[in-house]
Amino acid sequence: MADYDLVIRHGLIVDGTGAPARQGALAVSDGRIVAVGAIDGRGETELDAEGHAVAPGFIDVHTHDDAAVIRDPRVDFKIMQGVTTDVVGNCGAGVAPANDAFRAYYAAGMGPILGESDLPWSTTAEYFAAVEAARPACNVAAYVPHGVLRYNAMGGERRPPGDAELQRMREQLDEGMRAGAIGLSTGLVYAPGAFARTDELVALAKVAASYGGIYGSHIRDESARLLEAVGEAISIGEQAGCGVQISHHKAAGAQYFGMTKQSLPLIAEARARGVDVTIDVYPYVASSSSLAAMFRLGRGAAFETAPAIIASVKYNKERYEGKYVREIAAELDLPIGEAIRKVLQDEENTPSVIMFIMDEADVRRVIADDHAMIGSDGLPSEGKPHPRLYGTMAAVLEKYVREEPLLALEEAVRKMTSLPAGKHRIAGRGILREGWQADLVIFDPATVADVATYAEPRQYSRGIDYVIVNGEVAAEHGRQTGARAGKMLRRGVAT
Ligand SMILES: [Zn+2]
Repeated sequence: MADYDLVIRHGLIVDGTGAPARQGALAVSDGRIVAVGAIDGRGETELDAEGHAVAPGFIDVHTHDDAAVIRDPRVDFKIMQGVTTDVVGNCGAGVAPANDAFRAYYAAGMGPILGESDLPWSTTAEYFAAVEAARPACNVAAYVPHGVLRYNAMGGERRPPGDAELQRMREQLDEGMRAGAIGLSTGLVYAPGAFARTDELVALAKVAASYGGIYGSHIRDESARLLEAVGEAISIGEQAGCGVQISHHKAAGAQYFGMTKQSLPLIAEARARGVDVTIDVYPYVASSSSLAAMFRLGRGAAFETAPAIIASVKYNKERYEGKYVREIAAELDLPIGEAIRKVLQDEENTPSVIMFIMDEADVRRVIADDHAMIGSDGLPSEGKPHPRLYGTMAAVLEKYVREEPLLALEEAVRKMTSLPAGKHRIAGRGILREGWQADLVIFDPATVADVATYAEPRQYSRGIDYVIVNGEVAAEHGRQTGARAGKMLRRGVAT
């Protein structure tokens, strides 16, 4: 008779709190961590972690896997980089709640980027039940996305909501919060979220606040008006009385490089006066989004200067996918803007694009911030998605811990575990502590590496030896097991 289900020995325990790593063992039974430190008894399974770090499973706070966790419940692109919890519903975009008008809108525009789905649910609670029924390999926590609420309530109208429309949004958000959502997310550069004024967002954030939820935002501008947009997000949190998460914080476009020198102090000032503002960031100088949205946003100009790659298209895969916009323009013998218009037309506005619009100095500055956590912003599209979908966590450990040191190992792990768990009300996870859920990753700090590239993004990170979700081994030595032990997580509930 074994004493424990699983014992991991001789590892370097990096507990997620940022405390100094220490040699030790860890025991798991019934999906929970039952002992950390010195272990006497035997495990049914014994793992030797000599030379490896043992950390809480990584929490990816910024994903767009809302449909993917159901369509592709193995979520190999998450599990294989050590991610055990996926936060979906970001940027005001997602899959629930859904009425017929929203289903048609999703199919036409968002499906090709987030993954096709018939959206066979109406409410957020029903969507959560569908996630549970799909048994994904990783845990899932979710925001209620504002753009989705707005489309359900008033379609793509470019105006403030009427009283009844706002009330409809409030009710749907209330339903989502009761189902266990972590808060409200917005995407204020995308239709239809961009049509909302601040007062609409405050009114809704108050509903999230009444449940202890947070306000997560892809803010209104990440370039010329970055500081104003950061200010708006902070003020929404302040007025509504809830925490704020500023998504994928960046200064986009060469003329705005260095602006994080001003945005980070703005956030620090807000924190100093008691607003709980935190940020997330991905470790790359390229962003990725909808080509149509970026072109409309007036980044048409950015395409003239910054290199961009068409990541995924619906029809002409050979012709466009994985190619630089410049290359496509040359082949078509068209100016860049005209070439993009043609791609959008040929592909019914569905392509996603990768744009090299950031400066490494800004990325480093944001990652180093004490209140910055790691979020991939990966788009689970077909074609050649931004490599962040596969390599975000390993990239941080490889590049910013080992190769161009910016963070201590303990600090990098904290940004992927206890920091996001605390902010997103993910209870009982993110720290190696007795009684907490056994989401674990065992990796080699000396070899961990992101090997996904822009040309060949679908590659699993190196050096991630074991990934354990709710006590079950989900991946070992670069291979995914069949375990699908992920749970739908409800705000503040340790399950
Ligand atoms: Zn976004």
